Amino acid sequence: MEQISTFGASRTTVRDLQLFRDEADPAVATILADCAVVRVARGERISNHGQARVYIVLSGLLEIAPEADAGDEGSTRRVLPGESAGEQAVLDDAAEQAAMTALEDSELLVIEAAMVWTLIERSNVLARNLLRLLSFRIRAANALLRRRQKVGEFYRQLSLNDGLTGLYNRAWLNEMLPKLVARAAHDGRPLSLVMIDLDHFKRFNDTHGHIAGDGALAAAAGVLRNALRPSDFAVRYGGEEMMALLPDTPQDLAVMVAERLCKRLRGAVVFSDMRLALPHVTGSFGVACLAPGSDGDALMAAADAALYRAKEQGRNRVCC
Ligand code: GH3
Ligand code: MG
Ligand code: MG
Repeated sequence: MEQISTFGASRTTVRDLQLFRDEADPAVATILADCAVVRVARGERISNHGQARVYIVLSGLLEIAPEADAGDEGSTRRVLPGESAGEQAVLDDAAEQAAMTALEDSELLVIEAAMVWTLIERSNVLARNLLRLLSFRIRAANALLRRRQKVGEFYRQLSLNDGLTGLYNRAWLNEMLPKLVARAAHDGRPLSLVMIDLDHFKRFNDTHGHIAGDGALAAAAGVLRNALRPSDFAVRYGGEEMMALLPDTPQDLAVMVAERLCKRLRGAVVFSDMRLALPHVTGSFGVACLAPGSDGDALMAAADAALYRAKEQGRNRVCC
């Protein structure tokens, strides 16, 4: 990078520069006239030697690398003739500048930080153009952030949902059950749990095939989803094991919910891959309500014990 002339001696006029567009004050041109014009060769990295400064491309092309923390999505920015780089470093007085490389042999106007401030004080047009420029960049940065947040949220949802049934999975349960228990205890409200295990499901799989078994699981999940209130949670926590978590629901009400689920499951139709109706699947249901001072593990154990009794008593029924 070598100085070849000054702006005053170059062919470019002030109004060719984006930052000075609409600037008519001859005093601004006079100030700019003494600023250095440097030449950089294609492929050359532009160093500011620790001094914040604005570069304006007079000819050629620059590339600015994304910020180190921008990840895969941060895109490189190209700076065309008339456009500028380095404004932000000047405004917030940062010696660090983003990595800049010339993609072609280029000529750059260099305005040192102190001179930029002199120009800002002199030129309302420059101040306004700078504000507009920064506003665009903030908008772009915000859009990038929002996009990333959405992607993050998407993957988070994905990791907490079961792929086959769309219900919450075990990871969700591990994270949320203690929270639901704590909230119920704090508010002095009941929390009920309905544990569900499909009956003789191994036999169903063996008879009708694994694909039909998957269809039956999806159908059972559909029954759960459609029968619960929006404030309830349906979880697939094992192979053919699901549960409904019912905040704000006492045990007798939870038993009624379980009875309804049991009846609807019994009536749900599962189709084979030939669209033939298969025998109905049934489930056994164990209901428990959070006891004062106890925790999620105890609640699960109580529901599990009730479920075991339902199996013992002949399946396709609710126990509590
Ligand atoms: P029980 O009434 O005592 O619960 O009998 P069961 O056959 O349902 O119980 P067991 O635990 O012996 O078998 C569970 C079966 O669930 C075994 C397995 O093939 C089936 N299963 C578990 N996960 C899946 C799945 O994702 N898809 C399919 N199709 N079957 C599954
Ligand atoms: Mg089981
Ligand atoms: Mg089973």
